[in-house]
Amino acid sequence: MQEINKNRRNAILKTAQGIGIFAFSGLIWGAYVSKAKASSFSLRPPGAKEESEFLKLCIKCGRCVTFCPFDTLKLATPEDDVPTGTPYFTPRKIPCYMCVDVPCVPVCPTNALDEKLLNIVENDKEMMDIRNAKMGVAVVDIESCVAYWGIQCDACYRACPLIDEAIKLEYKQNDRTNKHSYLLPVVDSTKCTGCGLCEHACITKKAAIMVLPRDKALGSVDINYIKGWDKSDEARLNQTDKIAPKNSDDTNSVIDYLNSGDL
Ligand code: SF4
Ligand code: SF4
Ligand code: SF4
Repeated sequence: MQEINKNRRNAILKTAQGIGIFAFSGLIWGAYVSKAKASSFSLRPPGAKEESEFLKLCIKCGRCVTFCPFDTLKLATPEDDVPTGTPYFTPRKIPCYMCVDVPCVPVCPTNALDEKLLNIVENDKEMMDIRNAKMGVAVVDIESCVAYWGIQCDACYRACPLIDEAIKLEYKQNDRTNKHSYLLPVVDSTKCTGCGLCEHACITKKAAIMVLPRDKALGSVDINYIKGWDKSDEARLNQTDKIAPKNSDDTNSVIDYLNSGDL
């Protein structure tokens, strides 16, 4: 821990020395970014705004990178698949260790990393909670995950800081042997932060569990279908004014039909 603190102090010093060039380099990079290709599968730091907004705001100062005590964050080079100079991380190499104080976020001078996206209210006080981070979501490749073969492995499950919340082990009878059971890692995308500790810990040659950006990994149902049995899901009906049915003026009648149980 002492070493980490020392590194952090050096990083702070280096950052302070670099402050003089923030504004100038921001202008140059800003012009460059508009031409740079969009993000592919790289992961952004905690608290990053939605990608297009993030790219507008990030001035590539590197403060988030220097304040990360684990060297998780890197600034992209021209070889990387995100605009050069923007921060990203590769969990198979170094995951995000979900620091409780999230030092990478408040140092962002432009709010490209936004504390508000992590905030919770406790005792009438707003504070960051890294559990709200949505850096990505872990996805299991069930063909290469050896737990799905019936081999005992729970490396990803044990590595998860949100064990039994973001990742659970699901019990299933092994019909092939009729003697053993599977213990299958299953990710809850509503809880997973995308920290990548599971991917880092995976024992297979190429990780069988990997973190992908949420917009790449997750589907979106829109309001064509609503879980009629789930009150919280019905809140999505408030979005009905955003769509119009093709052959009717009555939006609610369409939704009622879909949820009537006749389908
Ligand atoms: S929360 Fe993650 S990215 Fe931020 S400083 Fe900690 S390890 Fe680095
Ligand atoms: S995210 Fe913020 S702190 Fe990090 S490089 Fe961009 S502007 Fe700087
Ligand atoms: S990325 Fe993996 S380790 Fe991190 S919260 Fe999600 S399931 Fe857990």
